[in-house]
Amino acid sequence: MTLPQCDNPPTPEETAALRERYRAERERRVRPEGPGQYRAADAEFGYFAADPHTDGPAEREPLRDTVDVAIVGGGFGGILAGARLRQRGVAKVRVVEKGGDFGGTWYWNRYPGIHCDIESHVYLPMLDETGYVPEWKYAPGEEIRRHAVRIAERSGLYEHALFSTAVTSLTWDEPAEQWVVATDRGDEFRATYVITATGTLSEPRLPGIPGIEDYRGHTFHTSRWDYEYTGGGPEGGMTGLAGKRVGVVGTGATGVQVVPMLAEDAGHLYVFQRTPSTVDVRGQRRTTPREVGADRPGWAAERRENFLRIVSGEDADRDLVNDGWTASAALLEKLLPSFRRDGEPDFEAAYEAADHATMNRIRERVAAEVADPATAAALQPWYRYACKRPTFSDTYLPAFNRDNVTLVDTADTHGIERMTERGVVVGGVEYEVDCLIFATGFSVGVSGITSGKLPVTGRGGVQLLHAWARRGPRTLHGFTSNGFPNLVQMGSLQNASSVNFTHILDEQAVHAAALVAAAEEKGAVIEPTREAEDAWLAVCAQGAPDHEWFHAECTPGYYNREGRGRPNGPTAYPHGAVAFHDLLRRWREESIGEVLRARAAAPA
Ligand code: NDP
Repeated sequence: MTLPQCDNPPTPEETAALRERYRAERERRVRPEGPGQYRAADAEFGYFAADPHTDGPAEREPLRDTVDVAIVGGGFGGILAGARLRQRGVAKVRVVEKGGDFGGTWYWNRYPGIHCDIESHVYLPMLDETGYVPEWKYAPGEEIRRHAVRIAERSGLYEHALFSTAVTSLTWDEPAEQWVVATDRGDEFRATYVITATGTLSEPRLPGIPGIEDYRGHTFHTSRWDYEYTGGGPEGGMTGLAGKRVGVVGTGATGVQVVPMLAEDAGHLYVFQRTPSTVDVRGQRRTTPREVGADRPGWAAERRENFLRIVSGEDADRDLVNDGWTASAALLEKLLPSFRRDGEPDFEAAYEAADHATMNRIRERVAAEVADPATAAALQPWYRYACKRPTFSDTYLPAFNRDNVTLVDTADTHGIERMTERGVVVGGVEYEVDCLIFATGFSVGVSGITSGKLPVTGRGGVQLLHAWARRGPRTLHGFTSNGFPNLVQMGSLQNASSVNFTHILDEQAVHAAALVAAAEEKGAVIEPTREAEDAWLAVCAQGAPDHEWFHAECTPGYYNREGRGRPNGPTAYPHGAVAFHDLLRRWREESIGEVLRARAAAPA
């Protein structure tokens, strides 16, 4: 691992001053309510979560049939699981999805300016299999959504899919050795296996601002963009905003993409910022298939493995992607439970110097791009790199040089103070707006089987959350749990993660499909023993505690539960995604039989 070079290493005095500034800026922002400061987009705020992309769910009769595999969630996780199952010859795969089509986050998020900030050639999965080669280094959201649909179509997943449908419970029918899947559309169908792929950032959240219900102007969340009101589309052209006063709340990865587009089209734009993002160079450009190596078989798998190695701090002979993520790999590694000192006694000091150099460069960029010194000062981030999701844009900072854009800093009031019928109050000043757009992100960990919203009843009528209540979640490799046969979980729990999450999901999908295929071949049920779970928990507990101070000292955000630090307990595999994928591959070759036990019931 190479730390970013530091031409002028900071003096001890400069280091001490920066630490103190970071501490003070964090204190300005920590709120005692932590994650409780937000409210869900449900009940009286349910309209913030309504689906703007369908005319309403199609009428249909409730289903009572039987499928081989039910997949909960039709984002990339569910689609990839379906595709990998179909490659293994599994016939009847039913994806159940809340949205009106496949795509997950790319179905819901269609805001103007939407792009993926991970290089398209490593982010879009199954490029080798589909033969698709993206043209731009960073793909627009619509291209990604279409690719999700492409994989689903080619894998035959539309045939049995249920859209605008939410799974409401999963119940193991022991005599039949099948899952009974109930939904909010009255379905109660059966599945031999269930795979859950419900995502982590899927439910829009709103700040709990006093008076939010009093506001009489137009309002929506970025993940449910209202083009009927704004006009235009993801490429811009929002003629409905001409002459209008528009406010946007939030300057995270979404806000950074939306603001330049709104600045172009709104009469006046107020950007309500609480914490500035780190905004590094984007470098969007067209690419050629030759340049990305797409003239060779297996090019995409090789490229995304190379990206994963670099951002995981592993050795790589070259950097194929060569962008802001790979350049800051050594600083990103601090986010991983596997963070290590590399045996160097002064690694910590070298790390801090490199971090200061990177953050100083990012702050200097703000000063160079934004003309008004007070606005530039407010846009400078004072925390360590990757405390918040890093962002990349070449149009965000210059947007603040426009006469029709005003930055309203809300750090001193812990965010927007309150709302009125006409607009937003910050520091006692009322900003009247015709339209207020919430770029305030998503609730973390509120969907899926660990949230309580999707009750799972396993062997002996045991509820999953009851089974885990006392000693925390128990899994083998994050996928399977004792007492819950033929249930395969995808996600980050006791698993390994990385910034290129579609790669992680694809490896998980391959694994899930292999489990199902092995059980089918042996006429068996998938269920790990308690001993296998214990052994896996012991592996996850090896996570170095070193990186905890990093989250504890960071400015609040969803990475550190709004300033409260990481949750306790072994939540992740500690040695990184590259080692995890190797471990899974070996286990599939040598030990998969450990989780299989003979079926009691005759096959239906
Ligand atoms: P975030 O949670 O990252 O940002 C929410 C924003 O709302 C923050 O700026 C937050 O401020 C602000 N906010 C919250 N409450 C208030 C308040 N009361 N007053 C004023 N401001 C407030 O959500 P995003 O939608 O931006 O991003 C979520 C995630 O989605 C990203 O981290 C990333 O994983 C993913 N994403 C990925 C993209 C990609 O290209 N791959 C693009 C967009 C999103 P504060 O920081 O102070 O809490």
